[in-house]
Amino acid sequence: MPQYVAAIDQGTTSTRCMIFDHSGNVVAADQREHQQIFPRAGWVEHDPEEIWRNTREVCAGALAKADLVDQDIVAVGITNQRETTVVWDRTTGKPVYNAIVWQDTRTDRIIEELGNLGGGQNRYHASTGLPLATYFAGPKVKWILDNVDGARAKADAGDLLFGTIDSWLLWNATGGPDGGLHITDATNASRTLLMDLDTLTWNEQNAADMGIPMSMLPEIRSCSEVYGNIRQRGAFAGLPLAGSLGDQQAATFGQACLSVGEAKNTYGTGNFVLLNTGNEKVMSENGLLTTVCYKIGENQTVYALEGSIAVTGSLVQWLRDNLGMIGSAPEIEQLAASVDDNGGVYFVPAFSGLFAPYWRSDARGAIVGLTRYVTKGHLAHAVLQATAFQSKEVIDAMNADSGVPLKSLKVDGGMVGNELLMQFQADILGVPVIRPVVAETTALGAAYAAGLAVGFWQSEDDIRTNWAQDKQWDPQMDEAEREKQYRKWKKAVTKTFDWVD
Ligand code: ADP
Repeated sequence: MPQYVAAIDQGTTSTRCMIFDHSGNVVAADQREHQQIFPRAGWVEHDPEEIWRNTREVCAGALAKADLVDQDIVAVGITNQRETTVVWDRTTGKPVYNAIVWQDTRTDRIIEELGNLGGGQNRYHASTGLPLATYFAGPKVKWILDNVDGARAKADAGDLLFGTIDSWLLWNATGGPDGGLHITDATNASRTLLMDLDTLTWNEQNAADMGIPMSMLPEIRSCSEVYGNIRQRGAFAGLPLAGSLGDQQAATFGQACLSVGEAKNTYGTGNFVLLNTGNEKVMSENGLLTTVCYKIGENQTVYALEGSIAVTGSLVQWLRDNLGMIGSAPEIEQLAASVDDNGGVYFVPAFSGLFAPYWRSDARGAIVGLTRYVTKGHLAHAVLQATAFQSKEVIDAMNADSGVPLKSLKVDGGMVGNELLMQFQADILGVPVIRPVVAETTALGAAYAAGLAVGFWQSEDDIRTNWAQDKQWDPQMDEAEREKQYRKWKKAVTKTFDWVD
């Protein structure tokens, strides 16, 4: 009887369950979108209970679509939108507030206050590899404890638990208030501003700065080990939960970036470039993050340099939902193809400030270069190009930090079906862009982590063997043109600074 591994991919816009065979091919998938809650400008929330409900539904859905039963699955892995923060009551299992999403900027004042304790934006850089920014989880916990009635007292009494979405799902899946495991993995923990990168343990001083009791924090585990079994109710009852990585680390693993110097770029709601730096922790001097790439069981920790970009695919959504310029995200390609170029327009989508390599929470979006000549088609180009230019900026930073220029770029995620964008990306980078056959590398990476833990796959060599190329785009733009356009982009970026008081 063939056997399979299942992965739950809890993303920013939707939750998926995918079932993979031994060759790493998708056998079945099910997906549900969840509500994006925008209570105020700069605030983004999700309903954790909706996410947990969707997770249960897509697991049952994928199993039914594959025409399989629980016994056909040998292990389940989880991957998730990172940094998004849930605080819940350990007795009732109810969240005390909505999940505060990674893009949310409400903690900007908290960030400033923490920096003022000494060290400014670099206060936690040496311990955590991260700059102080609204992006990360710890300050979001502080906001909940400071602003939700009664939360601080309950937290001090040991009644509240904190987790990123992986923890929330792992706790619920293993029984919730009835003995659920309160754990997280090292990749997710590395996004909180609370974990020491060297030891993979919580930093008590950082937690004290943010007023977070240690009793709220989950136990930090590796990315690939049998954590426990799924509760006896619902889909996957009793199956081992055996893998967990944040979505970008999972994609890096699924893309088989398993050697030092290998990198991938995922094009989703935002873009995230990760470069495997091996067992060495490289501290960035150019605005990148140092983060845990993965830790497989007892093996040594593998680190990564990361360029995080907040807004890429979500700018396409914005064009669709807020301006109504397209009916669906893929339609942007036709609209852009109706003209030859961007008509001189540059669109810097600093909706959540700017992440790497700038880390400016005072920035807000700008469209520059407008003339009477500009049409929707030009704007569509500018929207797609924003993703490519932002990617170039973080890859330039990566080349500077590592001293070894990238020779090609592996890509994945929802936007890589867009051929016009992929060609422009190769043009503006000046190196080939390569898309694998299985573009669902995030779910695949979580499946690999779970399958390795139970011996379904023997070693990382199986992952390398399974990886196959679908298509490659080679650069066609001449260098003078590339430099001209990039110079304009850089100038456009400066127009977004100092916008928030
Ligand atoms: P996530 O995992 O972050 O939820 P996905 O990897 O599913 O995201 O990618 C979805 C994103 O990709 C959306 O923001 C959507 O606007 C964008 N997208 C999907 N298809 C295309 C396309 N053909 N062209 C441009 N953008 C696209």
